[in-house]
Amino acid sequence: MSTRSTISHGPGFHLYHELFDDDDNLYLRVDDNRVCESCGAEHKRYSNTIVIPAHIWEVIRLTGAHDFSLLEKTDKDLFEMVEKDSEVDFWITEESPRELVIQDRVDQLKGDRAKQRKIHDKIQLLNKETKVYK
Ligand SMILES: [Zn+2]
Repeated sequence: MSTRSTISHGPGFHLYHELFDDDDNLYLRVDDNRVCESCGAEHKRYSNTIVIPAHIWEVIRLTGAHDFSLLEKTDKDLFEMVEKDSEVDFWITEESPRELVIQDRVDQLKGDRAKQRKIHDKIQLLNKETKVYK
């Protein structure tokens, strides 16, 4: 008989309580399986389980939200954000005129936005494939 009471699970994770655990700790198992390029089979890269005390879980939940502030920004939005940013003036030199500083900063923000979109897409996919039991 399983002693686990599943809260949710999906590809790569299982979040549960242990019935014998009177402190209501959360148990999080994270797996990473990769399809092997040489044999085509799925190999386990790692599988870790950690015990998270309920009060720590709640603080993490409320403070650990990822920054998605650039997700919906267009290239034009990014350019306008940088143009208004007074920090730009700080980086201007004879070798780095204002236009170049702005372009570098816009490129940097485009990279940040790409990362945010990638994580956002993974969240959407994981939400579809996750079963919730509460
Ligand atoms: Zn292999």
